[in-house]
Amino acid sequence: MNRFAEIVKFIRQTFNQPEGFIPLHAPVFNGNEKKYIEECINSTFVSSVGMFVDRFEEDMANFTGAKKAVVCVNGTNALHLALMLAGVKQNDEVITQPLTFIATANAISYCGAQPVFIDVDRDRLGLSPQALQNFLDKNTTRKGDGCYNNLSKRKISALVPMHTFGHPCRIDEIAKICEQYHIELVEDAAESLGSYFNKRHTGTFGKIGVLSFNGNKIITTGGGGMLLFDDEESAKKAKHITTQAKVPHAWEFVHDAIGYNYRMPNINAALGLAQLEQLSGFLKIKRELAERYQSFFSGKNIQFIKEPENSHSNYWLNAILLKDRKERDEFLKYTNQNGIMTRPVWELMNRLPMFRDSQCGNIKNAEWIADRLVNIPSSATI
Ligand SMILES: *Cc1c(COP(=O)(O)O)cnc(C)c1O
Repeated sequence: MNRFAEIVKFIRQTFNQPEGFIPLHAPVFNGNEKKYIEECINSTFVSSVGMFVDRFEEDMANFTGAKKAVVCVNGTNALHLALMLAGVKQNDEVITQPLTFIATANAISYCGAQPVFIDVDRDRLGLSPQALQNFLDKNTTRKGDGCYNNLSKRKISALVPMHTFGHPCRIDEIAKICEQYHIELVEDAAESLGSYFNKRHTGTFGKIGVLSFNGNKIITTGGGGMLLFDDEESAKKAKHITTQAKVPHAWEFVHDAIGYNYRMPNINAALGLAQLEQLSGFLKIKRELAERYQSFFSGKNIQFIKEPENSHSNYWLNAILLKDRKERDEFLKYTNQNGIMTRPVWELMNRLPMFRDSQCGNIKNAEWIADRLVNIPSSATI
């Protein structure tokens, strides 16, 4: 049997599915989902306020250790809002990694700001503090209110690292550099609910952290997102702006700023609360799956991306590294033709037409990873 056929066989055995399609990541609804949604419908409070919104926010703040959590319609608009609250203005620049999902770069654009792409670490797949430090040392000047790019003369107002596939990046070093350069840290923790760096939950290292509950994430609300804050004041502001900046009043309709309709409906929060109750169970199953993959691939001489040092990964999406782009493409073709969903990493942001002109550091690690990495089935269904 060829190598790829052995891998397909192993995946089919692991998921106990001798035939048919095996998706990359399917949601699991084994808890109180139907009960809470029914309760929600019976209450008639299915829209933007209600008990499930409050409970979901409270329980998630407790789970992550954030002081406050505020729900949003999805992770992308949560990122947009986070950047606005971090003070990102038209014509500013925001540093992020080229190896990320499009939402990170889009949210920067929604603010009228330009992304600047800095390389990732090979072992963690997240923004590299070393590359960041080099870029800032060489290309920026500190002035009174912030850090300015020597080339573009623009202010670099925020930085958005991402914890790729749930593996924490070197967020402690990144946070220190941000402090040193007066750059606001907004963490894209959309993929890393249940992941910790030095026992601290991802998304709680910067001013604001963002989670996503899209259908393919570790828990889902159908569509949804959340902002994590370490201060009450910002959380209050976020609530206000996500509800059209309406000034609370029993009957008057007065708004005191440009607001957004970005709040998650109560019915989605009902689903989220039921999912959150199962999170620790999902995490356990996903760890078991990752351990099985790891021991299988170590026998096959294929590198499996494992939990980095001082970290606890949620193993949202498992990934392997093939020899080169050619082998990667052969693997993608073979597995997908045989009913096993696998996929390459996102096209690097700097290669997309919208961001082709954005400033980009030396990104050799991101390019190296993009040539080799493939995600393999990762549902918590083994
Ligand atoms: C999923 C995801 C988001 C947010 O996506 P939504 O689908 O809008 O919830 C943001 N960034 C990353 C890296 C993601 O994977």
